[in-house]
Amino acid sequence: MKDKAEPRKSVKGLDAEAQELIEIAEKTINKHFAIGRHHVASALKTKSGNIYPGIHLDCAGFDNCAEPISIANACMADDKELSLVVAVVKDSRTQSVDIINPCGNCLQQFLVFGPDIEVIAQTPQGIRRLHLHELLPYPYGN
Ligand SMILES: [Zn+2]
Repeated sequence: MKDKAEPRKSVKGLDAEAQELIEIAEKTINKHFAIGRHHVASALKTKSGNIYPGIHLDCAGFDNCAEPISIANACMADDKELSLVVAVVKDSRTQSVDIINPCGNCLQQFLVFGPDIEVIAQTPQGIRRLHLHELLPYPYGN
């Protein structure tokens, strides 16, 4: 599932590992974008160094997010130590691709499957790497 990214403009303040993950998520949504079906993609890196892309499934309000698809891909490869994740969304009108923060359900799934994971997220200070606990300080069930 490892993928190679194409060059893109860098996000100020992010390290090369984060830049690479963003590039792979962008490449994934640009390849698989389909109106009414797929407009969000994720890229999940594990501690082994492998990267697992995912795309969301738009299904008339019963969507499946991209991030758990990436988690499932990693689990299927028996590569379960999650390290870093990003999700991107593609606007169907402008074709622009931007980083989108995980929803609450995805944050809870990260807590179960990769409690030490970092998330590349939009913040008031720009795009940053945040530990899961910064995005989900008081999780359900803990
Ligand atoms: Zn989600």
